[in-house]
Amino acid sequence: MAKLIAGNWKMFKGPVETLAFFDGFEAPDGVDVVLCPPYVSLEAAVGEEWPIYAQNVHWADEGAFTGEISARMLVELGVEGTLVGHSERRLYFGETDETVRLRAEAALAAGLGVIACVGETEAEREAGETEAVLTRQVAVLPRHEALVIAYEPVWAIGTGKTATPDMAQDAHALIKSLHETRVLYGGSVKPENAIELLGRPDVDGALVGGASLDAASFSSLCRIAASLS
Ligand code: PEP
Repeated sequence: MAKLIAGNWKMFKGPVETLAFFDGFEAPDGVDVVLCPPYVSLEAAVGEEWPIYAQNVHWADEGAFTGEISARMLVELGVEGTLVGHSERRLYFGETDETVRLRAEAALAAGLGVIACVGETEAEREAGETEAVLTRQVAVLPRHEALVIAYEPVWAIGTGKTATPDMAQDAHALIKSLHETRVLYGGSVKPENAIELLGRPDVDGALVGGASLDAASFSSLCRIAASLS
């Protein structure tokens, strides 16, 4: 199966920068690519060659939820899926396992794909709680063919620290024993460390933050993934 490389742009790139990215981005056959721009740039990105995912979604169809966006609205725009449960949502915006479950279920019910993020903090890893945390986070995720899990150790996101390929492999094997799905690795993935990480048997792709912002480096990651598929 082809590796899946998903780019999470976080709160970077308005519509103008989004279009400029696509002018410089190319990916070969043999890799599945997803891009997750911020809400305001989704419309500019939809219609490009690659599936576009949102970075979050609300579970209600509509209602008095200021600042939120529903799955139906994303579908109307031509968006094909969404991230849920990113650690920055859990850390800064009070996301819980329960709200992650609700968001994932609503997205899947609307026909969207889902990349659901799980991962332990540094304190949890040091306390030997990684397995328990991942088991708890994965337990709430719906079983659905359109759901992919991203293992993102929180201490490796945007920090330049990366899990060793063995750490990633162990976590992925655990997740796959709990949930039959593709599992992406996320946390400071860049062209320099991609071969080792993506080369492990249970690493089915990557969720990439920083290195997805630059068209050349994201193109290079996609080429590497295609060569390993
Ligand atoms: C992310 O945002 O999901 C992520 C993994 O970020 P980075 O690659 O910058 O660590």
